[in-house]
Amino acid sequence: MRERFGHSLDTHSVDMTETHSVAVVGAGFSGTILVAHLLRRSRGSLRIYLINKSGRLARGVAYGTRSSRHVLNVPAGRMSAFAEDESDFLRFAQRRDPGTVGGTFVPRHLYGDYLEHILLSAQSESARGTVLSHVADEVLSIDELPDEGTAIVNLAHGAPLAVNRVVIAAGNYAPTPPPLADTRYLTDSRFIADPWKPKALDAVVGDQPVVIIGTGLTMVDVALELAARGHTGGMTAISRRGLLPQPHRHGTSPPSYGHLPPDLIATAPTASDYLRAVRRHARKLEREGIDWREVVASLRPVTPRLWRALPDAEKSRFLRHLRPYWEVHRHRMAPELWAALHELVAAGTLQLVAARLTSVEPAEDSLRVSFRRRERAQSETVSVSAVINCTGPESDVRRLKDPLVRDLLSRGLASCDAAGLGIRVDDAYRVIGSTGAPSPVLSLTGPLLKGEFWEATAVPELRVHAARLAERLASELA
Ligand SMILES: Cc1cc2nc3c(=O)[nH]c(=O)nc-3n(C[C@H](O)[C@H](O)[C@H](O)COP(=O)(O)OP(=O)(O)OC[C@H]3O[C@@H](n4cnc5c(N)ncnc54)[C@H](O)[C@@H]3O)c2cc1C
Repeated sequence: MRERFGHSLDTHSVDMTETHSVAVVGAGFSGTILVAHLLRRSRGSLRIYLINKSGRLARGVAYGTRSSRHVLNVPAGRMSAFAEDESDFLRFAQRRDPGTVGGTFVPRHLYGDYLEHILLSAQSESARGTVLSHVADEVLSIDELPDEGTAIVNLAHGAPLAVNRVVIAAGNYAPTPPPLADTRYLTDSRFIADPWKPKALDAVVGDQPVVIIGTGLTMVDVALELAARGHTGGMTAISRRGLLPQPHRHGTSPPSYGHLPPDLIATAPTASDYLRAVRRHARKLEREGIDWREVVASLRPVTPRLWRALPDAEKSRFLRHLRPYWEVHRHRMAPELWAALHELVAAGTLQLVAARLTSVEPAEDSLRVSFRRRERAQSETVSVSAVINCTGPESDVRRLKDPLVRDLLSRGLASCDAAGLGIRVDDAYRVIGSTGAPSPVLSLTGPLLKGEFWEATAVPELRVHAARLAERLASELA
Protein backbone atom coordinates (compact mmCIF):
# COMPACT_ATOMS: atom_id res chain seq x y z
CA MET A 1 0.00 0.00 0.00
CA ARG A 2 1.24 3.49 -0.77
CA GLU A 3 2.85 5.03 2.30
CA ARG A 4 1.81 8.54 1.40
CA PHE A 5 -1.11 8.75 -0.87
CA GLY A 6 -2.39 11.57 -2.95
CA HIS A 7 -5.84 11.63 -4.37
CA SER A 8 -5.67 8.13 -5.73
CA LEU A 9 -8.81 6.95 -7.45
CA ASP A 10 -8.60 3.24 -7.98
CA THR A 11 -10.37 -0.11 -8.03
CA HIS A 12 -12.86 -0.19 -10.88
CA SER A 13 -14.05 2.36 -13.40
CA VAL A 14 -17.55 3.54 -12.60
CA ASP A 15 -20.38 5.56 -14.06
CA MET A 16 -20.64 8.37 -11.50
CA THR A 17 -24.12 9.51 -12.54
CA GLU A 18 -25.82 6.83 -10.43
CA THR A 19 -23.15 6.61 -7.74
CA HIS A 20 -23.64 7.25 -4.03
CA SER A 21 -20.71 8.45 -2.00
CA VAL A 22 -19.46 8.42 1.55
CA ALA A 23 -16.47 10.21 3.09
CA VAL A 24 -14.80 8.56 6.07
CA VAL A 25 -12.69 10.97 8.12
CA GLY A 26 -9.82 9.03 9.71
CA ALA A 27 -8.08 5.85 8.59
CA GLY A 28 -7.13 4.34 11.95
CA PHE A 29 -8.76 1.12 13.14
CA SER A 30 -12.33 2.48 13.09
CA GLY A 31 -12.25 4.14 9.66
CA THR A 32 -10.41 1.22 8.10
CA ILE A 33 -12.76 -1.47 9.41
CA LEU A 34 -15.83 0.58 8.57
CA VAL A 35 -14.58 0.95 4.98
CA ALA A 36 -13.75 -2.77 4.77
CA HIS A 37 -17.35 -3.56 5.77
CA LEU A 38 -18.71 -1.08 3.21
CA LEU A 39 -16.53 -2.58 0.47
CA ARG A 40 -17.70 -6.08 1.36
CA ARG A 41 -21.36 -5.10 1.45
CA SER A 42 -21.49 -2.85 -1.59
CA ARG A 43 -23.14 -4.21 -4.74
CA GLY A 44 -21.64 -1.37 -6.82
CA SER A 45 -22.35 2.31 -7.54
CA LEU A 46 -20.56 3.44 -4.41
CA ARG A 47 -17.61 5.78 -4.06
CA ILE A 48 -15.82 5.81 -0.72
CA TYR A 49 -13.31 8.50 0.23
CA LEU A 50 -11.02 7.41 3.05
CA ILE A 51 -9.42 10.60 4.32
CA ASN A 52 -6.45 10.66 6.68
CA LYS A 53 -4.41 13.65 7.71
CA SER A 54 -1.28 11.99 9.00
CA GLY A 55 0.68 8.79 9.02
CA ARG A 56 0.04 5.62 7.16
CA LEU A 57 -3.33 4.13 6.31
CA ALA A 58 -4.83 1.57 8.66
CA ARG A 59 -2.57 2.49 11.57
CA GLY A 60 -3.61 5.50 13.62
CA VAL A 61 -1.53 6.35 16.69
CA ALA A 62 -1.91 2.90 18.20
CA TYR A 63 -0.58 0.74 15.36
CA GLY A 64 1.68 3.27 13.62
CA THR A 65 4.66 2.49 15.86
CA ARG A 66 7.51 0.55 14.28
CA SER A 67 9.00 -0.50 17.61
CA SER A 68 8.64 -4.18 18.45
CA ARG A 69 8.79 -3.22 22.12
CA HIS A 70 5.36 -1.61 21.75
CA VAL A 71 3.06 -4.57 22.18
CA LEU A 72 -0.73 -4.78 22.19
CA ASN A 73 -2.36 -4.40 25.56
CA VAL A 74 -5.14 -6.80 24.56
CA PRO A 75 -4.26 -10.50 23.99
CA ALA A 76 -4.17 -11.70 20.37
CA GLY A 77 -7.26 -13.87 20.91
CA ARG A 78 -9.37 -10.76 21.58
CA MET A 79 -8.06 -8.55 18.78
CA SER A 80 -10.02 -9.84 15.79
CA ALA A 81 -11.43 -6.96 13.76
CA PHE A 82 -14.63 -9.00 13.37
CA ALA A 83 -16.73 -9.93 16.41
CA GLU A 84 -18.33 -12.80 14.50
CA ASP A 85 -14.92 -14.40 13.84
CA GLU A 86 -13.06 -14.09 17.15
CA SER A 87 -9.85 -15.80 15.98
CA ASP A 88 -9.34 -13.90 12.70
CA PHE A 89 -6.40 -11.90 14.05
CA LEU A 90 -4.96 -14.91 15.88
CA ARG A 91 -4.82 -16.84 12.61
CA PHE A 92 -3.14 -13.87 10.89
CA ALA A 93 -0.57 -13.62 13.72
CA GLN A 94 0.05 -17.38 13.62
CA ARG A 95 0.88 -17.17 9.91
CA ARG A 96 3.73 -14.81 10.91
CA ASP A 97 4.67 -16.71 14.07
CA PRO A 98 3.16 -20.18 14.59
CA GLY A 99 4.00 -19.97 18.30
CA THR A 100 1.36 -17.27 18.90
CA VAL A 101 -1.55 -18.33 21.15
CA GLY A 102 -4.76 -16.57 22.22
CA GLY A 103 -3.10 -15.09 25.31
CA THR A 104 0.00 -13.73 23.50
CA PHE A 105 0.65 -9.97 23.42
CA VAL A 106 2.11 -9.34 19.95
CA PRO A 107 3.78 -6.15 18.62
CA ARG A 108 1.35 -3.41 17.67
CA HIS A 109 2.89 -2.93 14.21
CA LEU A 110 1.76 -6.48 13.37
CA TYR A 111 -1.77 -5.32 14.06
CA GLY A 112 -1.28 -2.44 11.60
CA ASP A 113 -0.19 -5.02 8.99
CA TYR A 114 -3.38 -6.96 9.73
CA LEU A 115 -5.59 -3.90 9.19
CA GLU A 116 -3.80 -3.08 5.96
CA HIS A 117 -4.31 -6.67 4.81
CA ILE A 118 -8.05 -6.49 5.59
CA LEU A 119 -8.46 -3.24 3.66
CA LEU A 120 -6.52 -4.45 0.63
CA SER A 121 -8.42 -7.76 0.50
CA ALA A 122 -11.80 -6.04 0.83
CA GLN A 123 -10.80 -3.59 -1.90
CA SER A 124 -9.63 -6.25 -4.33
CA GLU A 125 -12.75 -8.36 -3.76
CA SER A 126 -15.25 -5.48 -3.93
CA ALA A 127 -18.05 -5.44 -6.48
CA ARG A 128 -17.60 -3.75 -9.83
CA GLY A 129 -18.60 -0.10 -9.55
CA THR A 130 -17.34 0.24 -5.99
CA VAL A 131 -14.51 2.75 -5.83
CA LEU A 132 -12.21 3.44 -2.90
CA SER A 133 -10.27 6.70 -3.02
CA HIS A 134 -7.51 7.38 -0.49
CA VAL A 135 -7.19 11.05 0.32
CA ALA A 136 -4.15 12.34 2.25
CA ASP A 137 -5.57 15.55 3.65
CA GLU A 138 -7.11 17.08 6.76
CA VAL A 139 -10.83 17.70 6.99
CA LEU A 140 -11.26 21.18 8.46
CA SER A 141 -15.03 21.50 8.35
CA ILE A 142 -18.19 19.92 7.01
CA ASP A 143 -21.21 21.72 5.54
CA GLU A 144 -24.46 19.84 5.80
CA LEU A 145 -27.10 20.16 3.13
CA PRO A 146 -29.79 18.11 4.90
CA ASP A 147 -32.58 18.87 2.41
CA GLU A 148 -30.50 17.41 -0.39
CA GLY A 149 -29.22 14.60 1.83
CA THR A 150 -25.63 15.59 1.08
CA ALA A 151 -22.64 17.25 2.70
CA ILE A 152 -19.57 19.14 1.56
CA VAL A 153 -16.31 18.03 3.12
CA ASN A 154 -13.83 20.90 3.24
CA LEU A 155 -10.17 19.89 3.10
CA ALA A 156 -7.03 21.76 4.14
CA HIS A 157 -5.42 21.32 0.71
CA GLY A 158 -7.63 19.56 -1.83
CA ALA A 159 -10.90 20.64 -3.45
CA PRO A 160 -14.06 20.15 -1.36
CA LEU A 161 -15.81 16.79 -1.74
CA ALA A 162 -19.58 16.57 -2.21
CA VAL A 163 -20.88 13.31 -0.68
CA ASN A 164 -24.11 11.67 0.49
CA ARG A 165 -22.77 10.63 3.89
CA VAL A 166 -19.86 11.54 6.15
CA VAL A 167 -18.48 9.37 8.94
CA ILE A 168 -16.22 10.91 11.54
CA ALA A 169 -13.73 8.26 12.68
CA ALA A 170 -11.18 10.75 13.92
CA GLY A 171 -10.19 8.68 16.93
CA ASN A 172 -7.71 9.59 19.61
CA TYR A 173 -6.38 13.11 20.05
CA ALA A 174 -2.93 14.19 21.22
CA PRO A 175 -2.44 14.77 24.97
CA THR A 176 -3.08 18.23 26.39
CA PRO A 177 -0.20 19.82 28.32
CA PRO A 178 -0.71 20.19 32.08
CA PRO A 179 -2.30 23.53 33.05
CA LEU A 180 0.56 25.37 34.79
CA ALA A 181 0.69 29.07 35.65
CA ASP A 182 3.98 29.70 33.84
CA THR A 183 3.36 28.54 30.28
CA ARG A 184 6.80 29.31 28.82
CA TYR A 185 7.65 25.62 28.85
CA LEU A 186 5.05 24.99 26.14
CA THR A 187 7.29 26.52 23.49
CA ASP A 188 10.54 25.06 24.85
CA SER A 189 11.97 22.36 22.58
CA ARG A 190 12.89 20.30 25.66
CA PHE A 191 9.18 19.82 26.39
CA ILE A 192 7.91 16.87 24.35
CA ALA A 193 4.20 17.61 24.08
CA ASP A 194 3.22 14.49 22.11
CA PRO A 195 5.41 11.41 22.49
CA TRP A 196 3.50 9.68 19.64
CA LYS A 197 4.78 12.09 17.01
CA PRO A 198 7.34 10.34 14.77
CA LYS A 199 10.88 10.79 16.13
CA ALA A 200 9.55 12.66 19.20
CA LEU A 201 11.93 10.83 21.55
CA ASP A 202 15.00 11.39 19.38
CA ALA A 203 15.61 14.71 21.15
CA VAL A 204 16.07 13.01 24.54
CA VAL A 205 19.72 13.07 25.61
CA GLY A 206 20.73 9.55 26.72
CA ASP A 207 22.76 10.35 29.83
CA GLN A 208 20.61 13.18 31.18
CA PRO A 209 17.63 12.84 33.56
CA VAL A 210 14.09 13.26 32.27
CA VAL A 211 10.68 13.76 33.86
CA ILE A 212 7.72 11.86 32.45
CA ILE A 213 4.30 13.32 33.26
CA GLY A 214 1.87 10.45 33.76
CA THR A 215 2.25 6.88 35.00
CA GLY A 216 -0.16 5.14 32.60
CA LEU A 217 0.29 3.02 29.50
CA THR A 218 1.92 5.83 27.50
CA MET A 219 4.54 6.23 30.24
CA VAL A 220 5.17 2.48 30.13
CA ASP A 221 5.82 2.59 26.38
CA VAL A 222 8.05 5.66 26.65
CA ALA A 223 10.10 4.42 29.65
CA LEU A 224 10.73 1.04 28.05
CA GLU A 225 11.56 2.64 24.71
CA LEU A 226 14.09 5.01 26.32
CA ALA A 227 15.61 2.15 28.33
CA ALA A 228 15.96 0.07 25.17
CA ARG A 229 17.72 2.99 23.50
CA GLY A 230 20.27 2.87 26.32
CA HIS A 231 19.02 5.83 28.33
CA THR A 232 21.11 6.03 31.50
CA GLY A 233 20.15 9.48 32.77
CA GLY A 234 17.31 8.37 35.07
CA MET A 235 13.57 8.84 34.61
CA THR A 236 11.07 10.25 37.10
CA ALA A 237 7.43 9.51 36.28
CA ILE A 238 4.93 11.68 38.12
CA SER A 239 1.17 11.41 38.49
CA ARG A 240 -1.30 12.52 41.16
CA ARG A 241 -1.75 9.04 42.63
CA GLY A 242 1.30 7.32 41.15
CA LEU A 243 -0.93 4.42 40.05
CA LEU A 244 0.48 1.97 37.52
CA PRO A 245 -1.71 -0.02 35.10
CA GLN A 246 -2.09 -3.54 36.46
CA PRO A 247 -0.58 -6.46 34.54
CA HIS A 248 -2.69 -8.92 32.61
CA ARG A 249 -2.56 -12.38 34.10
CA HIS A 250 -0.34 -14.94 32.38
CA GLY A 251 -2.38 -17.36 30.33
CA THR A 252 -2.75 -19.09 27.04
CA SER A 253 -6.25 -17.71 26.47
CA PRO A 254 -7.81 -14.30 27.11
CA PRO A 255 -10.14 -13.86 30.15
CA SER A 256 -13.71 -15.10 29.69
CA TYR A 257 -16.76 -12.85 29.99
CA GLY A 258 -18.52 -15.33 32.29
CA HIS A 259 -18.01 -13.78 35.73
CA LEU A 260 -20.40 -10.82 35.86
CA PRO A 261 -21.46 -9.96 39.43
CA PRO A 262 -24.98 -11.50 39.53
CA ASP A 263 -26.56 -8.51 41.32
CA LEU A 264 -24.90 -5.80 39.22
CA ILE A 265 -27.59 -5.12 36.62
CA ALA A 266 -30.26 -4.78 39.30
CA THR A 267 -28.01 -2.58 41.50
CA ALA A 268 -29.01 1.05 42.07
CA PRO A 269 -27.34 3.16 39.35
CA THR A 270 -24.76 4.92 41.48
CA ALA A 271 -20.99 4.82 41.15
CA SER A 272 -20.51 3.55 44.71
CA ASP A 273 -23.13 0.79 44.40
CA TYR A 274 -21.51 -0.45 41.20
CA LEU A 275 -18.12 -0.43 42.89
CA ARG A 276 -19.41 -2.37 45.90
CA ALA A 277 -21.05 -5.03 43.72
CA VAL A 278 -17.87 -5.52 41.66
CA ARG A 279 -15.59 -5.67 44.72
CA ARG A 280 -17.87 -8.10 46.54
CA HIS A 281 -17.93 -10.47 43.57
CA ALA A 282 -14.18 -10.21 42.91
CA ARG A 283 -13.44 -11.08 46.56
CA LYS A 284 -15.84 -14.02 46.48
CA LEU A 285 -14.24 -15.37 43.29
CA GLU A 286 -10.76 -14.80 44.71
CA ARG A 287 -11.64 -17.16 47.58
CA GLU A 288 -12.55 -19.73 44.91
CA GLY A 289 -9.19 -19.20 43.18
CA ILE A 290 -10.59 -17.13 40.29
CA ASP A 291 -8.64 -14.04 39.22
CA TRP A 292 -10.23 -10.55 39.66
CA ARG A 293 -9.42 -9.80 36.03
CA GLU A 294 -12.15 -12.24 35.00
CA VAL A 295 -14.68 -9.98 36.74
CA VAL A 296 -13.34 -6.79 35.10
CA ALA A 297 -13.37 -8.50 31.68
CA SER A 298 -16.95 -9.66 32.25
CA LEU A 299 -18.10 -6.08 32.75
CA ARG A 300 -17.24 -5.15 29.16
CA PRO A 301 -20.39 -6.36 27.39
CA VAL A 302 -22.66 -4.64 29.93
CA THR A 303 -20.66 -1.46 30.55
CA PRO A 304 -22.63 0.68 28.05
CA ARG A 305 -25.90 -0.36 29.73
CA LEU A 306 -24.54 0.40 33.22
CA TRP A 307 -23.06 3.71 32.05
CA ARG A 308 -26.28 4.87 30.39
CA ALA A 309 -28.24 4.05 33.54
CA LEU A 310 -26.10 6.43 35.63
CA PRO A 311 -27.54 9.94 36.09
CA ASP A 312 -25.13 12.74 35.01
CA ALA A 313 -24.23 13.55 38.65
CA GLU A 314 -23.23 9.92 39.20
CA LYS A 315 -21.23 9.86 35.99
CA SER A 316 -19.25 12.88 37.16
CA ARG A 317 -18.81 11.28 40.60
CA PHE A 318 -17.39 8.21 38.87
CA LEU A 319 -15.08 10.35 36.72
CA ARG A 320 -13.87 12.41 39.71
CA HIS A 321 -13.24 9.63 42.21
CA LEU A 322 -13.13 6.23 40.51
CA ARG A 323 -11.79 6.86 37.03
CA PRO A 324 -8.05 6.55 37.90
CA TYR A 325 -8.71 3.20 39.60
CA TRP A 326 -10.95 2.03 36.76
CA GLU A 327 -8.26 2.92 34.20
CA VAL A 328 -5.48 0.92 35.88
CA HIS A 329 -7.63 -2.16 36.43
CA ARG A 330 -9.39 -2.09 33.08
CA HIS A 331 -6.56 -0.94 30.75
CA ARG A 332 -3.78 -3.28 31.73
CA MET A 333 -0.33 -4.01 30.37
CA ALA A 334 1.19 -7.25 29.10
CA PRO A 335 2.88 -9.25 31.90
CA GLU A 336 6.21 -9.01 30.03
CA LEU A 337 6.02 -5.20 30.13
CA TRP A 338 5.16 -5.26 33.84
CA ALA A 339 8.26 -7.35 34.53
CA ALA A 340 10.50 -5.13 32.39
CA LEU A 341 9.16 -1.98 34.03
CA HIS A 342 9.78 -3.33 37.52
CA GLU A 343 13.33 -4.17 36.55
CA LEU A 344 13.81 -0.49 35.72
CA VAL A 345 12.31 0.51 39.07
CA ALA A 346 14.47 -2.02 40.97
CA ALA A 347 17.59 -0.77 39.20
CA GLY A 348 16.74 2.83 40.16
CA THR A 349 16.51 3.84 36.48
CA LEU A 350 12.82 4.67 36.84
CA GLN A 351 11.28 6.38 39.83
CA LEU A 352 7.49 6.46 40.22
CA VAL A 353 6.26 9.45 42.19
CA ALA A 354 2.76 10.25 43.48
CA ALA A 355 2.80 14.02 43.38
CA ARG A 356 1.19 17.15 41.99
CA LEU A 357 3.20 18.89 39.31
CA THR A 358 3.44 22.58 40.24
CA SER A 359 5.74 24.09 37.61
CA VAL A 360 8.03 23.47 34.66
CA GLU A 361 10.42 26.40 34.27
CA PRO A 362 12.84 26.75 31.39
CA ALA A 363 16.41 27.55 32.53
CA GLU A 364 19.43 27.96 30.33
CA ASP A 365 20.76 24.43 30.60
CA SER A 366 17.70 22.51 31.84
CA LEU A 367 14.01 22.46 32.60
CA ARG A 368 13.37 22.89 36.33
CA VAL A 369 10.42 20.74 37.37
CA SER A 370 8.73 21.26 40.72
CA PHE A 371 6.24 18.90 42.32
CA ARG A 372 4.67 18.26 45.70
CA ARG A 373 4.43 14.65 46.84
CA ARG A 374 1.14 13.45 48.27
CA GLU A 375 0.65 14.45 51.86
CA ARG A 376 3.80 16.56 51.96
CA ALA A 377 3.79 20.31 52.34
CA GLN A 378 7.24 20.88 50.83
CA SER A 379 7.83 21.12 47.10
CA GLU A 380 10.78 19.41 45.42
CA THR A 381 12.57 20.62 42.32
CA VAL A 382 14.64 18.61 39.86
CA SER A 383 16.60 19.80 36.84
CA VAL A 384 16.13 17.65 33.76
CA SER A 385 17.03 17.70 30.09
CA ALA A 386 13.50 16.90 28.89
CA VAL A 387 9.91 16.68 30.10
CA ILE A 388 7.73 14.17 28.25
CA ASN A 389 3.96 14.56 28.35
CA CYS A 390 2.53 11.05 28.80
CA THR A 391 -0.88 12.04 30.13
CA GLY A 392 -2.61 10.02 27.37
CA PRO A 393 -5.04 11.07 24.65
CA GLU A 394 -7.10 14.16 25.54
CA SER A 395 -10.51 12.88 26.48
CA ASP A 396 -12.46 16.13 26.95
CA VAL A 397 -13.73 17.28 23.56
CA ARG A 398 -14.36 20.78 24.94
CA ARG A 399 -10.60 21.21 25.38
CA LEU A 400 -9.63 20.02 21.92
CA LYS A 401 -7.96 22.47 19.57
CA ASP A 402 -8.72 20.23 16.57
CA PRO A 403 -10.26 22.44 13.83
CA LEU A 404 -12.88 19.91 12.73
CA VAL A 405 -14.23 19.16 16.22
CA ARG A 406 -14.24 22.85 17.12
CA ASP A 407 -16.06 23.72 13.91
CA LEU A 408 -18.72 21.02 14.38
CA LEU A 409 -19.35 22.03 18.00
CA SER A 410 -19.29 25.78 17.43
CA ARG A 411 -21.75 25.61 14.52
CA GLY A 412 -24.03 23.23 16.42
CA LEU A 413 -23.64 20.44 13.86
CA ALA A 414 -22.50 18.26 16.76
CA SER A 415 -22.91 18.39 20.52
CA CYS A 416 -21.11 16.73 23.41
CA ASP A 417 -22.26 14.91 26.54
CA ALA A 418 -22.32 16.67 29.93
CA ALA A 419 -18.79 15.49 30.81
CA GLY A 420 -17.33 16.32 27.37
CA LEU A 421 -16.21 12.70 26.91
CA GLY A 422 -17.40 12.51 23.33
CA ILE A 423 -19.82 13.54 20.62
CA ARG A 424 -23.49 12.64 21.07
CA VAL A 425 -25.04 10.16 18.67
CA ASP A 426 -28.37 8.36 18.46
CA ASP A 427 -28.69 4.57 18.50
CA ALA A 428 -27.83 4.42 14.79
CA TYR A 429 -24.62 6.50 15.29
CA ARG A 430 -26.15 9.64 13.71
CA VAL A 431 -24.47 12.76 15.13
CA ILE A 432 -26.82 14.77 17.35
CA GLY A 433 -26.58 18.52 16.81
CA SER A 434 -27.21 21.35 19.27
CA THR A 435 -30.96 21.27 18.46
CA GLY A 436 -31.11 17.68 19.70
CA ALA A 437 -31.95 16.32 16.24
CA PRO A 438 -29.85 13.55 14.67
CA SER A 439 -28.14 14.45 11.41
CA PRO A 440 -29.31 12.70 8.24
CA VAL A 441 -25.80 12.81 6.76
CA LEU A 442 -23.22 12.91 9.59
CA SER A 443 -22.34 9.78 11.57
CA LEU A 444 -19.62 8.92 14.03
CA THR A 445 -17.62 5.93 15.22
CA GLY A 446 -14.51 5.36 17.35
CA PRO A 447 -13.39 6.58 20.79
CA LEU A 448 -15.51 9.76 20.48
CA LEU A 449 -18.44 7.43 21.31
CA LYS A 450 -17.16 7.32 24.89
CA GLY A 451 -19.77 9.74 26.19
CA GLU A 452 -22.52 7.36 25.02
CA PHE A 453 -20.97 4.02 25.93
CA TRP A 454 -18.00 4.77 28.24
CA GLU A 455 -16.40 1.54 27.00
CA ALA A 456 -15.41 2.65 23.47
CA THR A 457 -11.63 2.58 23.51
CA ALA A 458 -10.35 -0.78 22.40
CA VAL A 459 -10.85 -3.09 19.46
CA PRO A 460 -13.36 -5.53 21.05
CA GLU A 461 -15.88 -2.68 21.32
CA LEU A 462 -14.86 -0.49 18.37
CA ARG A 463 -15.23 -3.37 15.89
CA VAL A 464 -18.89 -3.74 16.87
CA HIS A 465 -19.64 -0.03 16.44
CA ALA A 466 -17.92 0.06 13.02
CA ALA A 467 -19.83 -3.01 11.81
CA ARG A 468 -23.23 -1.73 12.95
CA LEU A 469 -22.69 1.67 11.39
CA ALA A 470 -21.51 0.11 8.11
CA GLU A 471 -24.61 -2.05 8.01
CA ARG A 472 -26.88 0.98 8.29
CA LEU A 473 -24.91 3.05 5.76
CA ALA A 474 -24.73 0.19 3.27
CA SER A 475 -28.49 -0.18 3.27
CA GLU A 476 -29.08 3.59 3.02
CA LEU A 477 -26.64 3.90 0.12
CA ALA A 478 -27.65 0.73 -1.71
C1 LIG B 1 -0.75 4.12 21.99
C2 LIG B 1 -2.03 3.38 21.95
C3 LIG B 1 -2.02 1.99 22.03
C4 LIG B 1 -3.21 1.27 21.98
N1 LIG B 1 -3.18 -0.08 22.06
C5 LIG B 1 -4.33 -0.78 21.95
C6 LIG B 1 -4.31 -2.22 21.98
O1 LIG B 1 -3.29 -2.84 22.15
N2 LIG B 1 -5.50 -2.87 21.82
C7 LIG B 1 -6.68 -2.18 21.65
O2 LIG B 1 -7.72 -2.82 21.50
N3 LIG B 1 -6.71 -0.83 21.66
C8 LIG B 1 -5.57 -0.13 21.80
N4 LIG B 1 -5.61 1.24 21.78
C9 LIG B 1 -6.92 1.91 21.71
C10 LIG B 1 -7.23 2.51 20.34
O3 LIG B 1 -8.06 3.61 20.64
C11 LIG B 1 -8.04 1.63 19.42
O4 LIG B 1 -7.52 0.32 19.36
C12 LIG B 1 -8.06 2.13 17.96
O5 LIG B 1 -6.75 2.16 17.46
C13 LIG B 1 -8.72 3.46 17.74
O6 LIG B 1 -8.80 3.63 16.34
P1 LIG B 1 -9.53 4.87 15.67
O7 LIG B 1 -9.47 4.64 14.21
O8 LIG B 1 -10.88 5.02 16.25
O9 LIG B 1 -8.66 6.13 16.07
P2 LIG B 1 -7.18 6.51 15.67
O10 LIG B 1 -6.31 5.32 15.67
O11 LIG B 1 -6.79 7.64 16.55
O12 LIG B 1 -7.27 7.00 14.14
C14 LIG B 1 -7.90 8.20 13.78
C15 LIG B 1 -7.24 8.72 12.50
O13 LIG B 1 -7.98 9.86 12.06
C16 LIG B 1 -7.08 10.83 11.55
N5 LIG B 1 -7.77 12.13 11.65
C17 LIG B 1 -8.21 12.75 12.77
N6 LIG B 1 -8.82 13.92 12.46
C18 LIG B 1 -8.75 14.04 11.12
C19 LIG B 1 -9.19 15.05 10.21
N7 LIG B 1 -9.82 16.16 10.63
N8 LIG B 1 -8.96 14.88 8.89
C20 LIG B 1 -8.32 13.74 8.45
N9 LIG B 1 -7.88 12.76 9.28
C21 LIG B 1 -8.10 12.91 10.59
C22 LIG B 1 -5.87 10.71 12.44
O14 LIG B 1 -4.71 11.21 11.81
C23 LIG B 1 -5.80 9.20 12.69
O15 LIG B 1 -4.98 8.56 11.74
C24 LIG B 1 -4.44 1.97 21.86
C25 LIG B 1 -4.44 3.38 21.78
C26 LIG B 1 -3.25 4.07 21.83
C27 LIG B 1 -3.29 5.57 21.74
